[in-house]
Amino acid sequence: MLAGVLGLTMDYQLTVPALLRRAEALHGAREVVSRQPDGSIARTTYGAVAVRARKLAVALQQLGIARGDRVATFGWNHGEHLEAYFGVPALGGVLHTLNVRLHADELAYIATHAGDRAVIVDAALLPALEAFRDRAPFEHVIVVGGAAPAGTIAYEELLAAADEAAYVEPELDEREAAACCYTSGTTGAPKGVLYSHRCLVLHTLSVATVDSLAIAEREVVLPVVPMFHANAWGLPYAAAMAGAKLVLPAARLDPASLLELLASERVTISAGVPTVYLALLQALDAAPGAHDLGALHTLVIGGSAAPQALIEGFQHRHGIAVLHAWGMTELAPIGTIGRLPAALAGASEAERLRYRSRQGRPVPFVELRARGDAGLIPWDGSAYGELEVRGPTVASAYTDGDGADKFTADGWFSTGDIVTIDPDGTIELQDRAKDLIKSGGEWISSVALENALMGHAAVAEAAVVAVPDERWGERPLAVVVLRDGATATATADELRAHLEPGFARWWLPDEFVFADVIPKTATGKFKKTALRDLYRRP
Ligand code: AMP
Repeated sequence: MLAGVLGLTMDYQLTVPALLRRAEALHGAREVVSRQPDGSIARTTYGAVAVRARKLAVALQQLGIARGDRVATFGWNHGEHLEAYFGVPALGGVLHTLNVRLHADELAYIATHAGDRAVIVDAALLPALEAFRDRAPFEHVIVVGGAAPAGTIAYEELLAAADEAAYVEPELDEREAAACCYTSGTTGAPKGVLYSHRCLVLHTLSVATVDSLAIAEREVVLPVVPMFHANAWGLPYAAAMAGAKLVLPAARLDPASLLELLASERVTISAGVPTVYLALLQALDAAPGAHDLGALHTLVIGGSAAPQALIEGFQHRHGIAVLHAWGMTELAPIGTIGRLPAALAGASEAERLRYRSRQGRPVPFVELRARGDAGLIPWDGSAYGELEVRGPTVASAYTDGDGADKFTADGWFSTGDIVTIDPDGTIELQDRAKDLIKSGGEWISSVALENALMGHAAVAEAAVVAVPDERWGERPLAVVVLRDGATATATADELRAHLEPGFARWWLPDEFVFADVIPKTATGKFKKTALRDLYRRP
């Protein structure tokens, strides 16, 4: 029994269709701009996106997709992907954004595990889809932005045949699932994260706030972060809610194309991983004044640690502020943002830069704490501990009960990130407890590479560690101990060739080091910290 008195406020459900209704009613004429496969620009509006999203919902229903069904996307950032962001949840379906950079085996596993009944795919990505289509449960393949070969459906024809008037918004419970993403596991298979409508709406609100990303109507937002990465950090939904103009770059993520789009569309806020902006900074430095980036005031950089030199370079040489953000797929994804606190407004430039290179303070309703060997650590800026978080945008479990050990008995999620926490709640990532490598914003599983290497007849032991890399953040390096007498049969080239069929190209270690032994911990595990220190390049 409820002890108190119930408030008299509406039980209004926080759902993705509610976001769409708002975008259409208030910002119907605001532009959504997409780069096309041929490089040209297509312009539409939130009003048109809303109509087409509802048509998509009707069309999917006619194909037999029902409430709770998973519908995958396999595509870059563009208007049709935005339509799926709204259209799939609008019928009560679950949008599953497949990461186009994953290996076909991993994609087959993920699509099967999720039970994706249909997939909306970019025409240019059809060959990549074909590599796993027969191992995925797709009943319908819907092709965007190009010809639809036999056995597939053309997206535009599907929408043209759908009657918008047939759309009936389901009475959704805000706790129902609206979207899903998979995260790479340290060991074993990727794990599914299922976002509720409520989670997505609260995340939208929290990232839009002024001390978070400050997504206002006057802004022009360009998410470089792919829409297949954790809801593109919530930016498509936040831009739609606020009525900010949205600029979507599709697959053209090279510095020249991005600079051209940033300038021509008068973008004010852009967001993505450090690798993208390192390349952009180099291009800007090489030709200062070649692009009019006068409108651009903020870059949101996260996914991996943003180097201080990157923050400094944009700020000092180009007058563009970097907001450093930390997040995880399990947090929908934004957790903390390094916006300068008022208390530091008068601090020296060096101190302010130093602050902004930390990962920052939590967005509203994300609570954090960290656990060291002797229990929860003090917020003193020096004790180390594994970061734990909780809040309405944090996963409460993985799908199918996977990874249950990541959730504490008292309801917190263990992130696998090792942090210090300042007295004001600012976190700084110091290390990673999880055995993964993050290269250009994408995960590489060191354990999977090690297992494959140890499957080679000449290899006795192999450990794969992350080494810092200026361009990619981290790259994998393999330390290999050969079996006695096998030296001649396993060169670095041969080991690379051995790995090639099973992994995406960018997973392959850049370097193979042959050693006599691999240092181990007391429990017999590879001592990764020692190896990382040993092979850290200057
Ligand atoms: P994902 O689930 O793929 O988004 O990856 C989340 C992980 O990326 C976090 O647990 C961190 O290890 C890492 N990460 C994300 N943002 C940052 C950041 N700003 N600095 C350092 N590491 C980060």
